[in-house]
Amino acid sequence: MTTILVVEDNPTSRKLAVLVLKNAGYGVLQADEGEQAVRIVRDAMPDLILMDVQMAGMDGLTATSILKGDPATAGIPIIALTAFAMRGDEQKILAAGCNAYITKPYHYPDFLARVEQTLEASGRTVPPGRQASGSTPE
Ligand code: MN
Repeated sequence: MTTILVVEDNPTSRKLAVLVLKNAGYGVLQADEGEQAVRIVRDAMPDLILMDVQMAGMDGLTATSILKGDPATAGIPIIALTAFAMRGDEQKILAAGCNAYITKPYHYPDFLARVEQTLEASGRTVPPGRQASGSTPE
C-alpha cells in the first residue's frame, strides 16, 4: 500500500487531509510537528510526506532539511503545505528540498492530483482506480 505521512499541527486540517487520502486508497500516518515527523519517517519510510511549513515545535522546513540531508530518507518526496502565497516562500520551500508545494486553503481534487503527480514523478505507485480518474485538467 502506498503510504503517506501527513505532518500538520492544525487538528482539523490534519483530519481532513487524512480522510481524503484514506478515501483515495492510501495508507496514512500522522504527525503534528517536525521532530515526531522525522522519527516516523525513519521508522516507517513512507512513500510521500505532506509537510506543513508553520508548526509549533520543529517547523516543516527544518524537518525537510533534516530528511533531505540524510541519504536514507532523501529520496522520499516531500510536498510542503503552506498558508502563505507570497513569492519568497516558494524559493525558501524549494531551497529546503521540498519537491512541490500546495498553498492552503486548497481544493481536494487539486490536492489529490498534486499528490499523484509527485508520486508518479518519483516512480511510486498511485492506488488503483486513482490513475484513471487521476489528474484534474489544468
Ligand atoms: Mn501549521
